[in-house]
Amino acid sequence: MFEKVLIANRGEIALRIHRACREMGIRTVAVHSEIDAGAMHVRLADESVCIGPAPASESYLNIPAIVSAAEISGAEAIHPGYGFLSENARFAEIVEEHGITFIGPSSEHIRLMGDKLVAREKAAELGLPLVPGSPEAVESPEQAASIADEIGYPVLLKAAAGGGGRGMTLVHNADDLAGAFSRTQHEAEAAFGNGALYIEKYLVKPRHIEVQICGDSFGNVVHLGERDCSVQRRHQKVVEEALSPALNDAARARLGDMAVSAMKKLGYTNLGTVEFLYTGDEFYFIEMNTRLQVEHPVTELVTGIDLVREQIRLATGAPLSFGQKDVRFEGHAIECRITAEDPETFMPAPGTVTSFHPPGGMSVRVDSALYAGYAVPPNYDSLIAKLIVHGRNRIECMMRLRRALEEFVIDGIATTIPLHQRLMANQDFANGDYDVAWLERLLAEDD
Ligand code: ADP
Repeated sequence: MFEKVLIANRGEIALRIHRACREMGIRTVAVHSEIDAGAMHVRLADESVCIGPAPASESYLNIPAIVSAAEISGAEAIHPGYGFLSENARFAEIVEEHGITFIGPSSEHIRLMGDKLVAREKAAELGLPLVPGSPEAVESPEQAASIADEIGYPVLLKAAAGGGGRGMTLVHNADDLAGAFSRTQHEAEAAFGNGALYIEKYLVKPRHIEVQICGDSFGNVVHLGERDCSVQRRHQKVVEEALSPALNDAARARLGDMAVSAMKKLGYTNLGTVEFLYTGDEFYFIEMNTRLQVEHPVTELVTGIDLVREQIRLATGAPLSFGQKDVRFEGHAIECRITAEDPETFMPAPGTVTSFHPPGGMSVRVDSALYAGYAVPPNYDSLIAKLIVHGRNRIECMMRLRRALEEFVIDGIATTIPLHQRLMANQDFANGDYDVAWLERLLAEDD
């Protein structure tokens, strides 16, 4: 086992990884930007290294500074968390070239899945059903028009290098296609340095259902069930639950088998998430994430398996510590992503937290790096806390979540707690009756 691990991240996920390390008897090295010098992940770690000024491009994305920090501190492995460098194949390669273990899959698999078009092609080869669309990059508005005519409107133009809900344009009819094409191409070039686009049929009211995968270097792959992440705003997840209220046992088994068989064929190692859209009892692959996900705790609460611990074990070359038959699902879990944003306008609301009182009690988990007096900086993602609750069934889980949200105090800044309270009191949500555009429709009713 590693003696020392460097955590190349910040905020709640840096804490999450630190906690797994400490429970495994591993010492931790935090890296931080200048503005994060007083952050909780720095305070808790055994050692810390400042890697640059506040802008992420000069600190949390600064590969030479992070690798030097690992070398200076003698860390044997680097955990990238999510976001930042977690899906940067070159980073994984450089880390390995320096004789340091990258806690994640192989750089080859990160690269493969990092380009959505290449990933689509590979997924088809592995037997996964795709959303109908263009098999290759679409080169011109004319070519886009002929493909769109074939698959039928509405269509979605997608950037091959897109992510985080960005780089997607919905097109309702042929008149709008040419303009949308050049706009999306320019945006993709500016945001991702790659203007390659492809087209998918825009599925109407699907659910976003993803499968948690775990693989070792001996060819074993298991799944830990699915997460339903259909409550979204601007294609970004807001609430996630495990298991999905939309699947019956037969659909669940079909999904798990499909994902495991594809990942076995690929020889995938470490943690990964295979994402699908689900409609009319059919699954359609959209992308794969080759890292730990923000919403991993809901899977931990229903399986009792510590995913980060397993991820670190797997990175040492150890075999999986459990088989498929050992994975059992108990009760229900829901996660609310709480951000430092105005709950109505969603304007970012950085600032100083004057008081912080997280909820407690049975089966309530709060993953957050906040404390009273902490100043949420304006430089990074606005996620400030994840409230994750478990119940013996979905109703108990929702009642507990309502209670926990009532107790949660974060003063001094605006947060999305009121939005989550509204969602947990909503009848459609209570019925499990929602799709990926449901929250947007709900918010539009306010306007
Ligand atoms: P990203 O990498 O930016 O997260 P994804 O491909 O994972 O992008 O898609 C994010 C979300 O966008 C999905 O969960 C879904 O809500 C929506 N979406 C993506 N593809 C389609 C599609 N073909 N039809 C309808 N909605 C889609």
